[in-house]
Amino acid sequence: MSFHQKGEQFSQKVQTARQRAAALEQRIVDSPKQDPELLAVSLEELKTALEELHVAEEELRQQNESLLAARSALESERQRYQDLFDLAPDGYLVTDGAGMIREANQAAAQLLGVAHTYLVGKPLIIFVPEDTRRAFRSQLTHLPKLGLLQEWEVRLKSRQGNLFDAALTVASVRDKPGQGSSLRWMLRDITARKQAEEKIRCYHLQNLHLQEEVRLKSQFLALMSHELRTPMNAILGFSQLLMRQAQHQLGHNQLHMLERIFNSGKHLLKLIEDILDFSKLEAGRLELNLEEFNLVELVTQTVEELQSLAHQKQLEVHIHVCLDNPYVVNDSNRLRQVLVNLLSNAIKFTDSGSITVDACEPTPDQIAIAVKDTGIGIEQSEIKQIFQEFRQVSQSLTRTYGGTGLGLAITDRLVGMMHGKIQVESQPGEGSTFRLELPRKVTSSSNTSAIVSK
Ligand code: ADP
Repeated sequence: MSFHQKGEQFSQKVQTARQRAAALEQRIVDSPKQDPELLAVSLEELKTALEELHVAEEELRQQNESLLAARSALESERQRYQDLFDLAPDGYLVTDGAGMIREANQAAAQLLGVAHTYLVGKPLIIFVPEDTRRAFRSQLTHLPKLGLLQEWEVRLKSRQGNLFDAALTVASVRDKPGQGSSLRWMLRDITARKQAEEKIRCYHLQNLHLQEEVRLKSQFLALMSHELRTPMNAILGFSQLLMRQAQHQLGHNQLHMLERIFNSGKHLLKLIEDILDFSKLEAGRLELNLEEFNLVELVTQTVEELQSLAHQKQLEVHIHVCLDNPYVVNDSNRLRQVLVNLLSNAIKFTDSGSITVDACEPTPDQIAIAVKDTGIGIEQSEIKQIFQEFRQVSQSLTRTYGGTGLGLAITDRLVGMMHGKIQVESQPGEGSTFRLELPRKVTSSSNTSAIVSK
């Protein structure tokens, strides 16, 4: 039963008792003689009326107690919400529709650099820098229509004059019928977030600049390599022609000089081509020309091309082929380039012993080519590095063996484009094995890395 119903019941009871007492009084007045029978009845009725009053009084006491308990529960609940409001990490304000502050919590006071009590009764706009007040005011007028405005980013100025970025969430609440609406504000200092966003924006810009620089560098390299290649081909072509045509007219020394011009030219051309390839790979401008060809023929021809180099160092080169089907789909020039890189390294870094090229098919859809040498080998810790551009194992070795450190970087990227893998097993002083795994049929290309660490 509600307090209201109980109250009604109580006043009904008091009313009944009062009516009885009045009726009793009337009867006594109406009978001037002291009728003993009437007196007894009246006393009985008086007793009943008193009892009813007692009951009503007890009920009233109980009602009062439960009213007090309800009020105390309500008070502690209100206190709990007040604490939540006061101690919330974000600033909370309640203003009227015109932005006049009615309530504020500690965090809001702290953000705005004032004592908590100072805020109440002040217009919020005094914490908005002068130059943005007009815009703030205009937004304020739209708030009742909007209902809820989230993440409204504004600059606020604390009482000490410090500017900070704040995100405001404002809800317009209609108070009581007939009264205007009030606004509930949540204020959050987003200076740190803004600074982080600004940093990200700067990094993004820097990144764009760097990307542009890298693009320009690759473009320049590609252009220069192309410009260098054209005269180099003329030097090579004419020195070869001269060697052939003037063989009998020239002395031994002159022929030797011509040979050196030709060999150095070839070396230079290889370097230029490596730089050109690398810059194309960097810029993602290298495409594979896929075709079907006989892998055994390609391996044999490549080994024959490099046979004379191996011969000069008295190294034997063996080929082992175990392929049921020698046909593959790949870019034959690029696969030859990969094999030339691996074979010329094997010859370069081997002073005695032999080199073996193995070609087999682990599964019908895969082919594996291994180039094995008995050379100086590579430390385990260096293996990952040798695939990075311009990386060589050690400076002193480079002087002994020469090279640019581009061969394996190009090899790695080409094998990646062929959707293949390259693995290295090596022991210093005992030799190295570079193992390639390629799909038998290479499909479209993509510029990814192919190294698999062992
Ligand atoms: P370059 O041979 O022009 O220096 P590469 O990229 O082809 O560049 O090779 C990078 C480095 O990897 C070489 O300088 C060498 O230190 C090491 N390396 C490559 N192949 C072998 C090998 N077969 N045996 C020993 N070291 C090798």
